Amino acid sequence: MNFQYWHPEKEKMDRAALKVFQLGAVQKTLVRALKTDFYGKRLAEAGIKGADDIRSLDHIKRIPFTTKHDLRTAFPYGMLAVGKDDVLRLHASSGTTGVPTTIYFNRNDIVSWTGLVARSIFSTGCDRRDVFQNMITYGLFTGGLGFHYGGEEIGMLVIPSGPGNTSRQFRLMRDYGTTVVHATPSFLLHVESKMREEGVARENISLKRAFAGAEPYSEDTRRRIEELLRIDVFNSYGLSEMNGPGVAFECQCKNGMHLWEDAFFAEIIDPDTLEPLPDGETGELVLTTLSREAMPILRYRTRDITAFYTEACPCGRTHRRIRRIKGRSDDMLIINGVNIFPSQIEEVVMGIREVGNNYLIVVEKEGFMDRLTVKTEISLEIFKDDDSRVLNAIRENIRRTLQTAITVNPKVELVESNSLPVSEGKAIRVMDKRPKDV
Ligand code: AMP
Ligand code: ZN
Repeated sequence: MNFQYWHPEKEKMDRAALKVFQLGAVQKTLVRALKTDFYGKRLAEAGIKGADDIRSLDHIKRIPFTTKHDLRTAFPYGMLAVGKDDVLRLHASSGTTGVPTTIYFNRNDIVSWTGLVARSIFSTGCDRRDVFQNMITYGLFTGGLGFHYGGEEIGMLVIPSGPGNTSRQFRLMRDYGTTVVHATPSFLLHVESKMREEGVARENISLKRAFAGAEPYSEDTRRRIEELLRIDVFNSYGLSEMNGPGVAFECQCKNGMHLWEDAFFAEIIDPDTLEPLPDGETGELVLTTLSREAMPILRYRTRDITAFYTEACPCGRTHRRIRRIKGRSDDMLIINGVNIFPSQIEEVVMGIREVGNNYLIVVEKEGFMDRLTVKTEISLEIFKDDDSRVLNAIRENIRRTLQTAITVNPKVELVESNSLPVSEGKAIRVMDKRPKDV
């Protein structure tokens, strides 16, 4: 039989047993955190002296939140719970929101992180026979090495291609028979349009699956990638503060991401009141590491907006699933008083047939009012058609559908396919040009 990466004793753990395990792990993490300069001070201020202060999982509410700002304040070693000599590796955030933050790993941390990514990949149906092309940035970003080690742990052949250079990506796919790739959803869309442009025949590549993550995307975008490339796309969620990839991942059921609750204690809070919300309600995800040694983090405010599914997954894994990330509690746009998530705009735009693979949201001031412009790429054939009535009809359809969804009337600009900037990392979809101090 093929070697398979599958740990039912962990992944199908009875929920009562899982909770007992979590309480012990929270207590251990707390004790470890108390050793650090940062938490030593922070927890003392909150009157928390040791494990005795957290005697049930409910008591976790007594622990203050940790934020990205705290990680920067504690830079470089204020959150380190082991000696510097025990640290094997560091990664730093790609800076989704400003200055990068640094995370340190000791040997055990690397082993457990690798296990989580391997478990995630295996849950999608991959095994050692797969050839895995990791089309994501290697280096300080966690997606490269995180997936690389996870893939090797399963026994797959891992091609460390990194992103970019689509012609080379196609060549690697053909030469080595790539069956699975990892990329951002926007890069996958770019790959698909390049494939058409370069005349790469789908029959000549053996691609079956893709892991897509690192940025928010809609169900429509997933479906679009799946249909165009004729593959299964699995949502992958992680953040550097919690290792990187391997925090939550879609299994073969492709309906919500199992959040690995033996490695992370998860809460959903109301981002305004900061109070924990009941299961099923939408709010901000807050995570506590349960096994990290070098850099334990308590109640980290991810800023990511999601909700737990309340029903069990047909795959049998007992770890709860989170919904697709709706946006961040800090990327919300307020346009003439209306709150809008960029993901809402994407959902509409990507649901329209004529729209190509890229779009850009621009917010500006026009007099005293906010002006929202959505630039969308339109396929070359339609553009070449040069029939202004056709273009006007498409533009008007996008505008009307958007207005219904977001209640703000946007200006819609149609641009040629592949004319908007493509980034190899996280796509920049929003340009907020409004003066900041108004
Ligand atoms: P980084 O620390 O640079 O890896 O960025 C982590 C952030 O990327 C998360 O907090 C999310 O906001 C975003 N992110 C990662 N994976 C996903 C995903 N599958 N869907 C939506 N957003 C994601
Ligand atoms: Zn499942």
